[in-house]
Amino acid sequence: MQSSKTKSSESGGKRAENNLARHNAPSEAAGLYIVATPIGNARDITLRGLDVLGSCDLIAAEDTRVTAKLMAIYGISKPLTPYNDHNAVRERPRLLARVAGGARLALVSDAGTPLISDPGYKLVREALAKGLSVHAIPGPSAALTALTLAGLPTNRFLFAGFLPSKQGERRRTLEEVRGVAASLIFFEAGRRIAEALADMHSVLGDRDAAVARELTKLHEEVRRGSLGSLASEFATQPPPKGEITVVVAPPIASTPDVARADALLEKAMAYMPLSAAADLISTALDFPKRAIYERALSLKTKL
Ligand code: SAM
Repeated sequence: MQSSKTKSSESGGKRAENNLARHNAPSEAAGLYIVATPIGNARDITLRGLDVLGSCDLIAAEDTRVTAKLMAIYGISKPLTPYNDHNAVRERPRLLARVAGGARLALVSDAGTPLISDPGYKLVREALAKGLSVHAIPGPSAALTALTLAGLPTNRFLFAGFLPSKQGERRRTLEEVRGVAASLIFFEAGRRIAEALADMHSVLGDRDAAVARELTKLHEEVRRGSLGSLASEFATQPPPKGEITVVVAPPIASTPDVARADALLEKAMAYMPLSAAADLISTALDFPKRAIYERALSLKTKL
């Protein structure tokens, strides 16, 4: 007599086999497939990514030479067409017409997940607007890879892309994200990393940070420390080679000194409207504007 445990494990095994068979079948459906590719180590491509690249009708690639090298590693030969910032306006209608006509189009970028500081957003948006199906084939992205290695909070994060290269704009962008209660992720070029870290230090304060370079590649390294110490370290060295992602810790949480905030708000509200007073005091105390605004409202009702 078989025990019920054995029976259920057999049916469970059969179920798992069926599931695998179903998942093994490459999708035959027409549509746009957003395929993530490695950010360095060529083995970091998913089985499904290979299925789609090996069975699609056409691959739209940011740089066809870069993608051709990856395809050669995996013995895949499919028509490649460039899709990048220079030709997107002209190419988009043509590519979408192919999908509308029943083609399976794969979109890849040079490395990582397309659309993440890479072309593809408008292609996806217009495909959806035309009622075409869009599928994501997830995989590596430098942003999440750096976040997982940084040793900084991961429960909330803001991906801020590339910072502007001009100092004034860069500082303004940093000011915009200074109050965000989340880890911050930036892409940066080696030739600008020293000045970017110096600006992060002066605008964001001396928070903990990690500079992740050449992730998944031979010379991978992650330097961790305070923004001040990292800024001094990079300022005294030649610009590092390779690709860099920076992760910065959230602002140091401090408890508002309510009595002090109230006293300052009362003074300020004698001279200016409530909203301007809340703005001024939240900046002066470096507390979230919303909390100070609510304090100001409750003070006003008491006055
Ligand atoms: N879409 C890509 C992704 O999902 O990773 C990002 C493309 S963006 C144009 C390229 C930037 O990503 C580089 O300049 C660098 O800041 C970061 N990056 C890419 N590969 C990296 C790596 N292996 N290590 C660290 N940062 C990397």
